[in-house]
Amino acid sequence: MPGYELWGADERREVEEVLETGVLMRYGFDGPRGGRWKARELEAELCRALGSRHAQVVSSGTAALTTALAALGVGAGDEVVLPTFTFVASFEAVLSVGAIPVLADVDDTLTLSPEAARAALTPRTKVVMPVHMCGAMADLGAFQALCDEKGLWLLEDACQAVGGTYRGRALGTIGKAGCFSFDFVKTITCGEGGAVVTDDEEVWRRCDQYSDHGHDHLGADRGGNLHPFLGYNFRISELHAAVGLAQVRRLAGFLDTQRRHKAALRAALERTAGVTFRRLPDPEGDSASFLSFFLPDEGRARAAAAAMKAEGLPAMYWYDNNWHYIRRWDHLKQAATMTRWPEEVRRVLSGLAGKAFPASDAVMGRAVSTPVNLAWSEAQVANRAEKLSRAVRSVL
Ligand SMILES: *Cc1c(COP(=O)(O)O)cnc(C)c1O
Repeated sequence: MPGYELWGADERREVEEVLETGVLMRYGFDGPRGGRWKARELEAELCRALGSRHAQVVSSGTAALTTALAALGVGAGDEVVLPTFTFVASFEAVLSVGAIPVLADVDDTLTLSPEAARAALTPRTKVVMPVHMCGAMADLGAFQALCDEKGLWLLEDACQAVGGTYRGRALGTIGKAGCFSFDFVKTITCGEGGAVVTDDEEVWRRCDQYSDHGHDHLGADRGGNLHPFLGYNFRISELHAAVGLAQVRRLAGFLDTQRRHKAALRAALERTAGVTFRRLPDPEGDSASFLSFFLPDEGRARAAAAAMKAEGLPAMYWYDNNWHYIRRWDHLKQAATMTRWPEEVRRVLSGLAGKAFPASDAVMGRAVSTPVNLAWSEAQVANRAEKLSRAVRSVL
């Protein structure tokens, strides 16, 4: 799953090159940097790896989401539809541009349900933001059709799914824009970092400007001092970009390993009556960073996660987890009482406190995930597969 497992000579060499010049900043200092532009190179490599026209590397995945929303012109009073199962950063980004997060159910893909998203639309909706959770895709065909029909932006939160595809195209490149995280636990890492990708030159230009105080970046040494767009500072440093540059070049290899390891874990549960797997709208495109499956009911899902942990296997029972699922996002629900939010934001957040999501609960209450690591030996994979099978069978 995370690239940090395979930190090595390539990463060290790229960082070393930055240390040799001492130019730790991604913009300007054109002379002293001696032709080394790690952030720019990382952007070019991402475009190549993902088949995107433009990429803007920034300081985190959260910064990428915020930058993309700002570049799409999303702000006060606008609504963004996103799923009840995601990382808290997704709604933080929406709130940070002054917009309103509207949560809608997930289905057995563990991502936003297209029907639930449709039902959540209002005249204020500007963006539909599915989140490709745990390495695999939302039903992008359905979301494209919905956004085209309603004239909305499709923004992909692909922070957990770099390298995944949908019908042959990279996740993140199918919507108007897509966002990635390269924090320390994602498939490839910069230490901290993120990126927005888009085919739209104007959206990219606004991302480029927004993430560096709105500077226009025209000309040498960071350009003239015009500010065509009001911005902020979400710059990545050259040191972080250097790590990411080495990592993105290894992405294809990471994915091969991940897929091989996941197939072995999955095979161990394949013929277990009572176990079903997360539905993948395009199984070929799974980045395979997690194995996610369902037990027949909440009691047995919780017990399976506990049995896995007893065997020494990491097990995520998201339903009880306050980083990723609405049920325990008390801080979001309580934000409704904060006077700093405009009335219209508080109205929606206060609605969340008492709101039930039975369709999401029915899925998430039965779901268990386990991460797929890169550094496992073949013997460790086999051993883990055996433990997984034993743990899950013990509760059925
Ligand atoms: C990790 C993550 C983010 C945020 O990325 P950071 O780089 O940690 O800020 C956003 N969305 C999802 C779904 C994530 O998993």
